[in-house]
Amino acid sequence: MAITLFSHPSCYFHLAGDDHPEQPARLSAINDQLIRSGLEFIVQQRDATPARAEDLYHVHTKLYVDEIYAKKPEDGHIWLDPDTQMMKHSLNAALHAAGATINAVDQVMSDTNQQAFCNVRPPGHHAARSQAMGFCIFNNIAVAAAYALEHYQLSRVAIVDFDVHHGNGTEDIFAADERVLFCSSFQYPLYPNTGEHPSASNIENLPLPALCKPAIWREQILQHWLPRINEFKPQLILVSAGFDGHREDDMAQFLLTEADYQWIAQQLKQLADQYCQGRIVAALEGGYALSALGRSVVAFLKGLM
Ligand SMILES: [Zn+2]
Repeated sequence: MAITLFSHPSCYFHLAGDDHPEQPARLSAINDQLIRSGLEFIVQQRDATPARAEDLYHVHTKLYVDEIYAKKPEDGHIWLDPDTQMMKHSLNAALHAAGATINAVDQVMSDTNQQAFCNVRPPGHHAARSQAMGFCIFNNIAVAAAYALEHYQLSRVAIVDFDVHHGNGTEDIFAADERVLFCSSFQYPLYPNTGEHPSASNIENLPLPALCKPAIWREQILQHWLPRINEFKPQLILVSAGFDGHREDDMAQFLLTEADYQWIAQQLKQLADQYCQGRIVAALEGGYALSALGRSVVAFLKGLM
């Protein structure tokens, strides 16, 4: 039983701006905690390869992707949206973040009983078909889903998103695509203030109030997600793994702890064992309280084991 961790040095070079919460130290916090936990010796670490433009065209418009390539600044930064900056190294980081998820799909599809985690940034789940948004340039997990559907000719891929913010970009890309089941739990109202009413029947949204306690969050997931996933019988489970619902993370007001991230990983692993030979690919989304982020990722990886 092995977990492969995909990352790339380029993901450290993207700078989102001075004092921006989405910072390279997030990846270091995860790596430090991996070493401290001893999991470093169990996890296989691999360098990601960059996504190709053709991989991105499956989930983003050609116009948008080509524009991002063309906009790459040689110095300084440009704003892609009010929260999302791009500088000299951002495109390379974003290509490796999306590419890592493709590498991870290849990894888990090549063998049974495999899980992969992509320790990458910038994150992806707010990036819509034709728009960068909320720190996200390319929608990494959507790129993985599209690749799995096309390259491996899968017909049922589940995407689970437990970031504290609604995965509006992923919903935008896959709404009404019956090959994908998208389950997103999030604080509502909260940025981006979407998702209260799902836009299609393949979307299972769980908007939950601020100060949501772990017991409520777990109960909602058991009640709403598990029956949907059981009915869907996914051939692959993808995870937008955001850890900003941790009680120490002041980006939002959920009260989750690392035990809850271990719990959700165990639930997903059981489902993956039942329906898809244990195949799970998770990609980092949010999580901004550095110590809590490191501990939460380690707990999540333990839950997958
Ligand atoms: Zn988030």
